Amino acid sequence: DNECYLHRQANFESKVRSYPRKLPFAIQSATGAWITDVEGNKYIDCLSGAGTLALGHNHPVVTESIKQLLDSNLPMHTLDITTPLKDKFSEFLYTLLGTSSDEYCLQFCGPTGADAVEAALKLAKQVTGRSGIVSFSGGYHGMTHGVLAVTGNLAPKQGIEGLMSPVQFLPYPNAYRCAFGLSNEQSVSAHITYFENFLKDVESGVVKPAAVILEVIQGEGGVNPAPIEWLKQVRRVTKELDILLIIDEVQTGFCRTGRWFAYQYADIDPDMIVMSKAIGGGLPMAVLGIKKQYDAWQAGNHSGTFRGNQLAMATGLATLEYLKENDMAAYVAEIGAWFMSELKSLQQCYPRIGHIRGRGLMIGMEIINPSLLKQTDGSYPADSVVAANIQQDCFKRGLVIEKGGRGGTVLRFLPPLNVTKEELQQVLEKLDSALQANQ
Ligand code: PMP
Repeated sequence: DNECYLHRQANFESKVRSYPRKLPFAIQSATGAWITDVEGNKYIDCLSGAGTLALGHNHPVVTESIKQLLDSNLPMHTLDITTPLKDKFSEFLYTLLGTSSDEYCLQFCGPTGADAVEAALKLAKQVTGRSGIVSFSGGYHGMTHGVLAVTGNLAPKQGIEGLMSPVQFLPYPNAYRCAFGLSNEQSVSAHITYFENFLKDVESGVVKPAAVILEVIQGEGGVNPAPIEWLKQVRRVTKELDILLIIDEVQTGFCRTGRWFAYQYADIDPDMIVMSKAIGGGLPMAVLGIKKQYDAWQAGNHSGTFRGNQLAMATGLATLEYLKENDMAAYVAEIGAWFMSELKSLQQCYPRIGHIRGRGLMIGMEIINPSLLKQTDGSYPADSVVAANIQQDCFKRGLVIEKGGRGGTVLRFLPPLNVTKEELQQVLEKLDSALQANQ
């Protein structure tokens, strides 16, 4: 009940600093899409380690791969020195990237997503000899010092002077809250015209950037999918102007959206692809895919101790092979579409649900206050207090979800990719009950 929740929250607040403030429990064990806390309560996990656990908790192919490695005398850590396991992992990854297998090379970074974004920004600057980066409002690329500069959210930057510069933020094409206050189709062309004119406006002193960085679906920013046509046009403009396009697939990659990579929906060829989270099958790994013509680093130009951990390669390879053998991209596309339509039917009953969006099993639900006046773009104002209450009420009912978007107004669903329909049915029931408590 609520008293118990508040008590736990107060208890955890002093011990830990991030997720547990919203999810006040200690995890005892976990299998598949299920978590059991130390008090024996069970929860359905629609966070999956922030999208890391593609196959849920402790999937046998993942745990077996760890056991096998530990039972062998294969090396645990080799810096970035090649091993047969690393070669096999790399070969597998090459086949997933681009249109031809020799189009990209891989820079193992590590161990976390921000490390690979750092590498991408640094390389883009070195390759082009330019310094600027264009990013988008609501974009999230990590929390390290350099990367924070391209994260399109002011809150985590408060009080930090001298972030990497120059970074220019442009509006992201948000289908619900369009920066141009126009309908969807018109807004795509308005966004592109703005983007193109901005970059070409040298007379006003706009300096050509080294790179444009974006997420195909903004995750932390509130699950905003970029329109396919907008992505195609961004690629056209950046190519025309010789600006590198860095696609951050840290959250969207590896079947999360119903394709191996979300950029494949737009059939574009990024200059760099940032990968992490699910790529390591639950263990830390971050890799940057670099188009071969931009592979400018000589030996030692970009180093670091923990790059491409062997254990993470074993779990990562086991996960990627499973995803491929079981055609999980198709499964995610299908079950995600079903789940989305079920969520949309909840929208009929609860006017608090403003918008439902996403692709595959990366879905967001924006919570609004329909008793306030509509804004100029025709939507109702978002409601961060009620969104937080719904998240808490889901937790109390045994459902773990996260929030995102401005002020945390978007409920985010990131279940394991192999979640079953029956499990998602239970998610819907718990969510329905939490929405009922917050009408
Ligand atoms: N890029 C995106 C799109 C992300 O979602 C995240 C993490 N949520 C990051 C980068 C940063 O990854 P990490 O937290 O592993 O540094």
